[in-house]
Amino acid sequence: MREFSIGDWQLVRDGIHVVQLQPASVNAGLIIGHSGVMLVDTGSSPSQGRELAASAAEVAGRPVTHVVVTHAHFDHFYGLAGISGVESIGHENLLRHLDGTNDPDVDPEVIRRDLGFDPSELVGPTDPMGLIKAVDLGGRTVEIVHLGNGHSDSDLFVQVPDARVVFTGDMLETSSDPMVGPDSHVETWPKAIDGVMSNAKSDTLFIPGHGPVATLEEVTKQRADISMLWATAEDCVKKGLTIEDVVADLNGPREVEWPFAPQSVANALPWLYRALAAKGVTKSRLLPLL
Ligand SMILES: [Zn+2]
Repeated sequence: MREFSIGDWQLVRDGIHVVQLQPASVNAGLIIGHSGVMLVDTGSSPSQGRELAASAAEVAGRPVTHVVVTHAHFDHFYGLAGISGVESIGHENLLRHLDGTNDPDVDPEVIRRDLGFDPSELVGPTDPMGLIKAVDLGGRTVEIVHLGNGHSDSDLFVQVPDARVVFTGDMLETSSDPMVGPDSHVETWPKAIDGVMSNAKSDTLFIPGHGPVATLEEVTKQRADISMLWATAEDCVKKGLTIEDVVADLNGPREVEWPFAPQSVANALPWLYRALAAKGVTKSRLLPLL
């Protein structure tokens, strides 16, 4: 069984708080309006979700009225099943992930053993969405947008324009390199970040899925790194390098330059190569010089 805990809520900006949860050192958020109270992400199990909603209500002085799930991974999504009597919002693809088999880090057996509940308890959002949704919390409107697939197939950004704060889910990570898994869409990921950056101001704060709050500059850097990850993998395929060749280079001469740590790249390679193969990218044939 993994260890579960809820840290201390930190004030980010007026009426906006963030808390770190274990397992997975995941961030959850709280957005307080004059009438509504919104929780962003729900923790890793129904009982943690229940405790998190109670803790958020204590900070807000009122019960949680809305919950947003930023994507379908266990540490963000599985707590939703423990929170009742609220309007819950998530991408419509969450409904395809209620069997507990989509998350690259867990499967039904791991859920029972490590997270302490049965995947049949998982629930989808009461209000599944496609592209965009606005929620009026009283004196504060929250905009929830899906700007394309990136880290997963269900990524949402939660924007609070009056406070210049954006919750990014795992589209941004600051405690380690962004995680690429079987459900990631690395090619379109930078475009989705472009969308959220174009809505931002120079002093907008970005709350990542994991790690400290980031500035626009840090988001710009990570966007460029994700773009480079895709381009470099594409280059390797075109040069005829296999995954094994690339891993050998990561562990040895490092002739290929990557934007992330060797282990992060090694973890991402199978999914990058699979996506590139699906796109029809293959070793390029060199034209004879004469
Ligand atoms: Zn994730």
